[in-house]
Amino acid sequence: KVVVVGSYVVDLMSRTPHLPKPGETVLGGPFQMGPGGKGGNQATAAARSGSEVTFVTKLGDDVFGREALKHFTKEDVNIEYIKVDPDQSTGAALIEVDEEGENSIVVALGACGTISEAEVVEAEEKIKEADIVLLQLETSIEAVVTTVKLARIHGVPVILNPAPYQEFPKEILKNVAYITPNETEAFELTGIEVTDEGTALTAAQMIHDLGVDSVIITLGGKGAFLYTGGDKGELIPSFTVEAVDTTGAGDAFNGGFAHAISNGYSLKDAMKFANAVAALSVTKIGTAPAMPYKNEVEALLAK
Ligand code: ADP
Repeated sequence: KVVVVGSYVVDLMSRTPHLPKPGETVLGGPFQMGPGGKGGNQATAAARSGSEVTFVTKLGDDVFGREALKHFTKEDVNIEYIKVDPDQSTGAALIEVDEEGENSIVVALGACGTISEAEVVEAEEKIKEADIVLLQLETSIEAVVTTVKLARIHGVPVILNPAPYQEFPKEILKNVAYITPNETEAFELTGIEVTDEGTALTAAQMIHDLGVDSVIITLGGKGAFLYTGGDKGELIPSFTVEAVDTTGAGDAFNGGFAHAISNGYSLKDAMKFANAVAALSVTKIGTAPAMPYKNEVEALLAK
């Protein structure tokens, strides 16, 4: 059983011949809409991997919020603790992609950016029953801190995906079992530019010193670097696939990793599983809709 506490935003994506300059209006198209947000993407990836997932987030009482509830119902995600706030709007990511694939994005977190301590506490029963709790930084820090506190009280391990990076009280890291920064987030945490295994080791050691048991730095197409202490780490290589859209790769990795850890996989096997989920996700366009199903992941792992 996995509990994900985090963001939901609707992705509103338009192609455009060029990204508009300040004051400019550009005729774009085609337009695409779909479920997104790191919390929602990770919940979807874990559910498709085969886990029983409860997603804690907040939506507005609007068309995007209703679409979100439909999406998670279809994905078999428990929506009991998704709050609908009539005074706020559902989060939205306004995405423009030009002909070169360059993008410009505004994420308006809306309701999911204001998840309160009390709203997390409402889900305490589910956190208590969980095998793993999965968190990102795309919501209020209050929600993150409260979730870590409740998980600790009930002895449930926490995965923190520190994305997108924002400042947070580092004391909580003593109660985080697994942290999964990408290269950018590892830099934000340590000031170390992670470019290879050597620099990944240095950054991972610094993060480990903050109190996290297992540090996992994702390295894009190279795979992910694991460090649990001592003077060495290990690169768990990715799977070779034809990448068409790498957005959401980190979310796929985290959702897959949470599923595997909650099912008792060893750390290395869980990372291998996560690499497979992430590799399959980059072969499709989109974020949540690009997450692979259990049978696809098993087929790739069996190759
Ligand atoms: P983020 O999406 O957060 O920037 P990364 O780029 O580090 O994160 O990617 C996360 C994971 O996705 C990697 O550890 C790897 O498993 C997988 N991945 C990313 N890009 C590729 C790729 N081109 N081919 C195969 N796997 C990939």
